[in-house]
Amino acid sequence: MSHARILVVDDEPGMREGCRRILSAEGFEVETAEDGRAGLDLFLARRNFDAVLVDLKMPRMGGLELVEHIRRHDPEALLLVITAYAAIETAVEATKRGAYGYIPKPFTPDELLLPVRHGLERRALAVEARRLRQERERHRQELEKARFTFLSMVAHELRSPLAAIEGCLDAVLASAQSLSQEDRALLDRALRRAGALRRMAGDMLSLTALQAGNFILRRERLAPDALLREALAAHETAAAEKGLTLHLERSDGPPEIEADHDALRCVLSNLIDNAIKYTPAGGRVNVSVRHEENSAVFQVADTGIGMSDDEQAHAFDEFFRARNPASASTPGTGLGLALVRRLVELHGGSVALTSAPDAGSTFTISLPARPISA
Ligand code: ADP
Repeated sequence: MSHARILVVDDEPGMREGCRRILSAEGFEVETAEDGRAGLDLFLARRNFDAVLVDLKMPRMGGLELVEHIRRHDPEALLLVITAYAAIETAVEATKRGAYGYIPKPFTPDELLLPVRHGLERRALAVEARRLRQERERHRQELEKARFTFLSMVAHELRSPLAAIEGCLDAVLASAQSLSQEDRALLDRALRRAGALRRMAGDMLSLTALQAGNFILRRERLAPDALLREALAAHETAAAEKGLTLHLERSDGPPEIEADHDALRCVLSNLIDNAIKYTPAGGRVNVSVRHEENSAVFQVADTGIGMSDDEQAHAFDEFFRARNPASASTPGTGLGLALVRRLVELHGGSVALTSAPDAGSTFTISLPARPISA
């Protein structure tokens, strides 16, 4: 701390020199300026002062203005106002604008050194706290990056074997005439599970690509109604197996939107898949699409377990999974909704969620219906 650099800004030469002497004798590096303007110029040119002692009444630029300028450029700079007793109110005003404290004139060497030392200690703590915060943030980002790299590797390695398994099961189902009804049902189920896993791996890859800024939308003209029916058809068996009613409630979307087919398919699939996963047997999943003010509005509503306000606030965060027994016993990565939001936003659209515990959830996706340039 004794090597701290201090700038003394005062228009009285005697005061400047007095401060320099006292502070230098303690090992501080001291520079001086004769008014606020010169002080600010020196502060900005060097950018390495730890503390600035500021007189209030000075020509060209007064102390209050100088305090404000310096505070704006360096939120951690230690600013101390040197003032005559008569100007105590202004000194109080200076502390409101960012000065650490004030030293009434005249002062003894100790009366100058004490607040300077205290202020520098406080500043050192603030600087250290910021350094720790930055380090923590860097650490968090590194961890996040490592997680995504790992995820991307795993997803990549999973995709090909899963596709191969699907291919084999497909071949057996197509060629083996003698299969019993039960065996066929088992193989069918295995095929669908492998397909779901492969799509999950695909989601992981898309999300990691989005995260890395490597995801490119391939836009084409699509009919929202057809897209919804396609996504719905892929989930009919899963819904029936779980004893749920999967219902197309409304299908009067705009004739076309300009969007990436696979990306939107992934968005709708994730939402319908979740609705099925988080709705107990006997429940209902309603899907719809409608045309509303130049938007295609998709909705996936379920009568499932729903989400608390807190869960809703985090539902779209990467890796978030609600801490309830139903979610714990349901396989998932916590990446689906994060991917949904990113893909929808990439299309210039938005996602909304309304939900309540045990009262079901409704996800609403709005996408621009007119072709988007770019
Ligand atoms: P997961 O792979 O866990 O399903 P998602 O990102 O799709 O990941 O969803 C995040 C979490 O949000 C889920 O783990 C679940 O707790 C909650 N959630 C998502 N959709 C629903 C829903 N329709 N009903 C109730 N909870 C849901």
